[in-house]
Amino acid sequence: MIKIKKQTLESICEAARSTYPDEFIALIGSKRYGVIDDLIILPATFGKNFSSIRIDLAPVDDSIVGSVHSHPGKSAQPSGADLRVFKRTGKTHLIIAHPFSLESARAFARNGEELELEVIE
Ligand SMILES: [Zn+2]
Repeated sequence: MIKIKKQTLESICEAARSTYPDEFIALIGSKRYGVIDDLIILPATFGKNFSSIRIDLAPVDDSIVGSVHSHPGKSAQPSGADLRVFKRTGKTHLIIAHPFSLESARAFARNGEELELEVIE
């Protein structure tokens, strides 16, 4: 089970909406143990292709737990390219599908297995 702060997920929804129809990509972090509560926006992380993420520009920070990106379509299923990025960038990954509401976010483990996502205040 993955927990995410509602405010953080709302920021993700907003960023995904403003980037649409391009993909929004960022890193997610946890300042409070066990809860995703931080969004780390990297330079040049908006585009049509997930491979544009500049992991090399990520701060060296062990509060970073993984990545988040948006899908302009209705499916939040990770692609083959997504799975390769998951392996390189942490253990927890979020995908948010159109229409980018709190309910359209899904969480995945590094191996692509879906994890239950709980939104907390
Ligand atoms: Zn994707």
